[in-house]
Amino acid sequence: MTTTNFSLLLALLLCTGGVARTQDKKLTGYADTAATRQLELESRFDKQLSSSHIGETIRELSSQPHHIGSARGKAVAEDILQRFKSYGWDAEIVTYQVLFPTPKERLVELKGPTSYKALLKEPALKEDATSGQAGQLPTYNAWSADGDVEGSLVYVNYGLPEDYEYLDRAGINVKGKIVIAKYGRSWRGSKPKVAQEHGAIGCIIYSDPRDDGYYAGDVYPKGAFKNEYGVQRGSVMDIVIYPGDPLTPDIGATANAKRLDRLQAPNLLKIPVLPISYHDATPLLKALEGPVAPEEWRGALPFTYHIGGGSAKVHLKLSFDWQIRPCYNVVAKLKGSEQPDQWIIRGNHHDAWVNGAADPISGLAALLEEAKAIGELKKQGYQPKRTLVYCAWDGEEPGLLGSTEWVEDHAAELKDKAVVYINSDNNGRGFLNASGSHALETLVNEVARDIKDPQTAISLQARKQAAEAVKAATPKQKKEKLSKQGFAIGAMGSGSDYSSFLQHLGVPALDYGFSGEDAGGEYHSIYDSYDDYTRFKDPGFQYGVALSQTAGHTVLRLANTVTLPFDFRKLYETVNGYVNELTDLTTNLRESTAIENQLIRDNKYQQVTDTTKHLTAPLPKSEVPYLDFSPLQNALTGLDTATIALAARKTLTGATVNKALYQAEQQLLNDAGLPARTWYKHTLYAPGFYTGYGVKTIPGVREAIEQRRWKEAQEQIGVVAAAINRLSAYLGGIH
Ligand SMILES: [Zn+2]
Repeated sequence: MTTTNFSLLLALLLCTGGVARTQDKKLTGYADTAATRQLELESRFDKQLSSSHIGETIRELSSQPHHIGSARGKAVAEDILQRFKSYGWDAEIVTYQVLFPTPKERLVELKGPTSYKALLKEPALKEDATSGQAGQLPTYNAWSADGDVEGSLVYVNYGLPEDYEYLDRAGINVKGKIVIAKYGRSWRGSKPKVAQEHGAIGCIIYSDPRDDGYYAGDVYPKGAFKNEYGVQRGSVMDIVIYPGDPLTPDIGATANAKRLDRLQAPNLLKIPVLPISYHDATPLLKALEGPVAPEEWRGALPFTYHIGGGSAKVHLKLSFDWQIRPCYNVVAKLKGSEQPDQWIIRGNHHDAWVNGAADPISGLAALLEEAKAIGELKKQGYQPKRTLVYCAWDGEEPGLLGSTEWVEDHAAELKDKAVVYINSDNNGRGFLNASGSHALETLVNEVARDIKDPQTAISLQARKQAAEAVKAATPKQKKEKLSKQGFAIGAMGSGSDYSSFLQHLGVPALDYGFSGEDAGGEYHSIYDSYDDYTRFKDPGFQYGVALSQTAGHTVLRLANTVTLPFDFRKLYETVNGYVNELTDLTTNLRESTAIENQLIRDNKYQQVTDTTKHLTAPLPKSEVPYLDFSPLQNALTGLDTATIALAARKTLTGATVNKALYQAEQQLLNDAGLPARTWYKHTLYAPGFYTGYGVKTIPGVREAIEQRRWKEAQEQIGVVAAAINRLSAYLGGIH
């Protein structure tokens, strides 16, 4: 669909639906007349959005490699600054000084029984205009340790903790050896972390064609999937300890900030790690002997996968420059007319591993289109009641550097003024993904209800519900998904710039993006280019427009409302679900442990397969005690009462009430942080200690149970219950 058609369709929808919509579809926080005015404003905003302009922005900002610390990275920040200024915003570049290593030396060679030297290079393609440019970062994992190691090679599947359990049972040890793991299933940074915990001296990560190569579909440039030379770059900083500049945890990385010694930074690896292509992985994997890999470990390369641990020897040599580099955040403001000290913050990063047409420019282009449209509304006389703060972050790729340093530097001001932080990152064709603070779930649904999906012309909300119903396992669950008023938003783990806002400061946050019909293998490679994007990700840029609408309407509704639309009933319902999951988890674990231990005692549990020369019976596990969940259950009863009472209070207006509403999330913080990672203060949401990007809800309790630390689980039940009780008492005081 062209822009013209899109605008025409939108105009038709607005003509036919505008008035009726206001009457039967309310906007939480708006009286009826104010809702009509707000919807009119949103339709004027929509008219300013242009898919072709979004496409133009993507082409321009992804035209050269622009990682943090590069000359082009700085030029991109300056370009964005000028765009904000030309749209009528007050904008500045806020610079931090952060550590960011780039490679000096990279070597992987097979030393026996055959020899092979890895290419470590993605070739230029004539079908991809930017793939041969100078200035590309080589293929590597940022924050690998320097190292020169040689050892026996062991294939560890995806490198998950349970893969090492299997190796233990098979009698294969990785101590003093180099492991090779596949990308996928877990966040890349947890692969070398788990390898290091098991005594490995080096780690190689490769992309198996089964996951995003020829087994998944035609490979680039014929199709979207990874060709044999494609490599996923990426950070292996242990962001689950803390993200941002590793030398300045908790404080902004200003020029004079007190810095840790790099070798003391607790979130950096001690072993070298390097990502490679399946072209380079093939000779290494072929050289492995020892037991045949179990069926679920096998990939799609044309030979039998073995686990190794014997004569196949690999030499891995890496060194890095460990430079402190400037990190250029662009921050643009539009001052609010009535509540200038209440900030609606919107952000997307601008740095890329290479050209980054999808990651991050597709999301950034939508953000800039919103800023342009709001600038136009301003020229027509519009001024938001609350202040808008639009941010383009640098250094997200190596570890959320720009956003984290800005948040740490402005922590007190943000806890005082930030109403919400709305994030996006890469965007493509498909379905709306929304995650974040559950008190914002009603707002998200009202926004998604009022925007049409560009391909099907049904609402984003209806399409999302349909997608969830299709995915649901049973007919009963399918019907439940469809009969609900809207869809549930996801919980936030990590992997983009919302993390420090929500998990460190307790600023309510949202993350938006479209995906599901844009699969491919370009992620963090030189092939994440404009040519790839326009063929496989969002060919007409209509989902760029849909993202601008979704984030833009959310911003405008929060900016203009008399009463901020936090719905704490949704928070209560969600947390109630989490607590039920935790009690079920504990019961299931207790019962299955008892059964397994009995089978082991009776000598009935022996695993015997064709690969298992050395398998021994598994060891019995500690019995699961009865944890006392009553503090949490009582706290939930209190939150139920408090949120019903709050929802019943009709006259919640005024600056003080609104401030109390947006600061409520801070009650859920625990000052001491999570066990073993004090930077993470939120008691409900955190990235998993072993899942990296993947979320763990009520993480203090859940991870203690999963990792069988029963005393800690009981203590954390008390910590979370106390946070919920604080929130209930606090909500009771809002009048
Ligand atoms: Zn990104």
